[in-house]
Amino acid sequence: MNEELKYKRWRQEMVKTQISSRGITDSKVLHAMSTAPRHKFVPEALIESSYGDFPLPIGEGQTISQPYIIAEMTQCLELTGDEKVLEIGTGSGYQAAILAHIVYKVYTIERNQTLFLQTRKLFDRLKYHNIVTKYSDGTQGWKEHSPYDAIIVTAGFRQIPPPLIDQLAIGGKLVMPVGGHMSQELVRIEKTKDGINSLNLGGCRFVKLIGQYGWDE
Ligand code: SAH
Repeated sequence: MNEELKYKRWRQEMVKTQISSRGITDSKVLHAMSTAPRHKFVPEALIESSYGDFPLPIGEGQTISQPYIIAEMTQCLELTGDEKVLEIGTGSGYQAAILAHIVYKVYTIERNQTLFLQTRKLFDRLKYHNIVTKYSDGTQGWKEHSPYDAIIVTAGFRQIPPPLIDQLAIGGKLVMPVGGHMSQELVRIEKTKDGINSLNLGGCRFVKLIGQYGWDE
């Protein structure tokens, strides 16, 4: 069988058995997950496991999240298509690619230089022209392009970095794993003109958010 056709079938199977069946209903999220080639975002040696129901190592001690977690985090942002989104923790680039299928523009920051360089090249190769990358400490946000309609943080810390809340638009949503080293809760906040509304989406386990408003190295 043609290799790309094989991966397309695996992708359809992933969406059916791991995503739709667990309650993800947003058609934009389902479409993005059916389209983005996850197998191109994982290390060569793990390509045959790329559509499995688990996170995978991507080098530098980091991981690409389980497909379901990515779908859940994306869905809770309630995106419609014309948004400007900021991601902290580019990693493999897969979460940014999912967002890029849905929204107008994705800004993504990575603090690990090896992953930053590798993933920037991949975005070029796969022609994700609406993703803009930066090598920096994402806990400080990216003021230049703020305010953002949505912010997604794909590494965990005890609290949401204050600069990210500042750089979120009124009516904007932010999702982040909040908690200790070993486990966190996925928290989604909405910034309104009267304050912050918070929603807990349940337990999760992410790598550490390291930086000025995160863990020490
Ligand atoms: N969204 C990624 C997940 C990668 S794991 C994906 O789809 O693959 C989390 C990433 O956050 C790691 O690559 C780690 O280096 C990065 N990270 C941790 N702290 C960071 C910070 N302060 N700023 C930017 N990136 C950070």
